[in-house]
Amino acid sequence: MFPIEKFHKLRTPFYYYDTELLRSTLNAIRDNLSADMHVHYAVKACANPKVLAIIAKEGFGADCVSGGEIEAALKAGFPADKIVYAGVGKSDREIELGLEAGIHAFNVESIPELEVINQLAKGKGKTARIALRINPNVGAHTHANITTGLAENKFGIDMQCMEEVIAIASSMEAIQFIGLHFHIGSQILDMDDFAALSLRINEIQNRMEAAGIPAVSDINVGGGLGIDYNQPDLHPIPDFCSYFNTYKQKLLLRPGQQLHFELGRAVVGQCGTLISHVLYIKSNPIKNFCIVDAGMTDLVRPALYGAYHQIDNLTAESPTDYVIYDVVGPICESSDVFIKNYGMPRTRRGDLVAFRSAGAYGEIMASGYNCRPLPEGYITEELQ
Ligand SMILES: *Cc1c(COP(=O)(O)O)cnc(C)c1O
Repeated sequence: MFPIEKFHKLRTPFYYYDTELLRSTLNAIRDNLSADMHVHYAVKACANPKVLAIIAKEGFGADCVSGGEIEAALKAGFPADKIVYAGVGKSDREIELGLEAGIHAFNVESIPELEVINQLAKGKGKTARIALRINPNVGAHTHANITTGLAENKFGIDMQCMEEVIAIASSMEAIQFIGLHFHIGSQILDMDDFAALSLRINEIQNRMEAAGIPAVSDINVGGGLGIDYNQPDLHPIPDFCSYFNTYKQKLLLRPGQQLHFELGRAVVGQCGTLISHVLYIKSNPIKNFCIVDAGMTDLVRPALYGAYHQIDNLTAESPTDYVIYDVVGPICESSDVFIKNYGMPRTRRGDLVAFRSAGAYGEIMASGYNCRPLPEGYITEELQ
């Protein structure tokens, strides 16, 4: 499964992206889409240029949350008219970049933002297509740091003010109001959450119709589909069938309406692995520490969210001789722990270990803390 011989020759830690799995995942998504459904890959999950280029080449759009991501998406070959751009704090420079590129839509999160986009578009003699990001007040059964669709979260426009904001948007000279946008959170595995969002959108569309507001062309339900971190080998590809069926069954589209998705984690999560060498095994009377050369600077999710990543020893001598380890990195922070009390085959200095399911929010969140170099990212084609 992994090109271990090649791995030995590379400086660790590094990310490895299994592009065969990535392509199978993209095919599984495509197989479940109907003609009115469009997937924009959420660039923030992984912006490795080689990974982006593959996703762009397969015909998907891009969901960006900064000007830098718009630039990365364009560079990787995503057509501008398949790029959507969300974010509570878009700067003038970033808005201008989107206008100049001619992106499909700005997902707008406030009235002041609407005013700035209108001003900047007018100044350029352009019209900005916008979708309003509505906070649907739908909770997602996921980590508090990654729920976004509750009234207490900073994202989106409150439902109570929706008609007012639509009226303002519709009156603006350089604004074309084309859609409604939602995003309720991340790593969601309970389809009921997406069903609840669908029902809320149905209510909102009924409310708009009752207020005499014409139906918009775009409904964008965001992303958030989770992956199986516990059993990556059993579930390398998320259950896209259930996910898309939930929307097909619960969400009532108006005639001609297009349904947009912004999937990040579900696209790239399982295809990426962080590869690291074991530096030292250190034992005291109560613990065995497995000290690896990857740290929270390379994969921050365990330190940030207490996230679990399966760790495989790729070069263990006797796979049945299990030992309990705390697997830790070299960073000078007590939170630089990948996992505590983890059973692994007896591990030695020099062994290669794989942190699985690290394709999303892995490499992209790497930092240079402790003056460490950023990890490289390699794809299958480079290691053949
Ligand atoms: C992060 C984000 C996504 C992608 O979320 P995933 O959980 O990775 O699918 C989609 N849309 C918006 C607006 C986001 O901020």
